[in-house]
Amino acid sequence: MNMNPHEDVAEVLVTAEEIARRTEELARTLERDYAGRPLKMVCILKGAVPFAADLMRAMNHPVALDFMAVSSYGASTKSSGVVRLLNDLDESIEGQDVLIVEDIVDTGLTLKYLRENLSARGPRSLRVAVLLDKRERRLVDVEVEYVGFRIPDRFVVGYGLDYAGFYRNLPYVGVLKPSVYEEAP
Ligand code: 5GP
Repeated sequence: MNMNPHEDVAEVLVTAEEIARRTEELARTLERDYAGRPLKMVCILKGAVPFAADLMRAMNHPVALDFMAVSSYGASTKSSGVVRLLNDLDESIEGQDVLIVEDIVDTGLTLKYLRENLSARGPRSLRVAVLLDKRERRLVDVEVEYVGFRIPDRFVVGYGLDYAGFYRNLPYVGVLKPSVYEEAP
C-alpha cells in the first residue's frame, strides 16, 4: 500500500465531478418525489457515508438521518443470502418515508435483506438509492428506485468503497493496481 492512495489507483471509473453532478440530479428528483413529506435517510455503514452526506446536503428538503450496519459473509455464504445485522437504527421508522442509501448493489442480497427487514417495521414508504449498480452480477431481484451510475463488473474502491478498510477517502471511484492485491497478506 502506497502512502499516497491515489498512486494505488490504476483507473478512474467515475470522477469526483461526475459524482457531484449526478448527486445534484438525484437530489432534485428526490425533492420532487418527496414533495411535502420529510425524508428519513437510512445510511448503510460504512460505504454509503460519503454518498449520503453529499446527497443530503444537496437537498433543499427536510431530511433526517439514521444509520445501520450490516455485513455479508464470504463468497460461499453470500450465495445463501446470509446478511448479519451489526448495528440497528436508533429510532423507529414507523409511518415515515424511508430512503435506504447504499454505496453499491452487486448480487442484490444485502439490499434484499435490508428492504425486507425495514419494510417489516411499517414505514409509510420504502425506497432505495445506490451510488453504483453492477447489474450484470445480480443474483436476486431487488428493486432500486434511484441509481447513480451503472458500472461494469469490476472491484471498485473510493468514495466510501474500501479494499481491506482503506481507500474510502478517495474522492472518485476507481480500480486498484494489481500490485496492491499482490502485496496483501
Ligand atoms: P451485494 O449484497 O449486492 O452483493 O453486495 C453489496 C455489498 O458488497 C456492498 O455494500 C459492498 O460492501 C460490497 N461490494 C460489492 N461490490 C463491491 C466493489 O466493487 N467494491 C467494494 N469495495 N465493495 C463491493
